[in-house]
Amino acid sequence: MEEENAMSVDKLLNNLQKVKRTGEGKWIACCPAHQDRTASLAVTDNGDGRILINCFAGCDTYSILRSVGLEWADVMPEKSITNNEKPVKQIIYASDALRIIRFESQVMLAIAYDITKTGIADLEMIKRMERSMQTINKAYEAANV
Ligand SMILES: [Zn+2]
Repeated sequence: MEEENAMSVDKLLNNLQKVKRTGEGKWIACCPAHQDRTASLAVTDNGDGRILINCFAGCDTYSILRSVGLEWADVMPEKSITNNEKPVKQIIYASDALRIIRFESQVMLAIAYDITKTGIADLEMIKRMERSMQTINKAYEAANV
């Protein structure tokens, strides 16, 4: 599982042009989904197998993924921060819960943009949004609010 997750950011970066590291788990590169001369694609590795990609020219995430032979599942694996621990009631810091909520909202927004732009809402996208909601609920409970 971990190896599989660790592979996807490299697989993505290996397929991009003019990749430049801009920080911890952050890169910019030329967007593979449009004629990109300036590196307008931002890649953020969340560190747990989930990768956020954003084209500043406005390409949808799905097109970018397809251009490099990846799928939603490659960058948004089901594994979440809160469910890979023991099944006992887990308490996390509120700041971690906020980080989870911020990330999952970005995921949902990215998917919503894609649906709007492409007019395609496949079942995988809807299921991924449902999982975002479940992850947010788990984070809420784990923060013991
Ligand atoms: Zn683009």
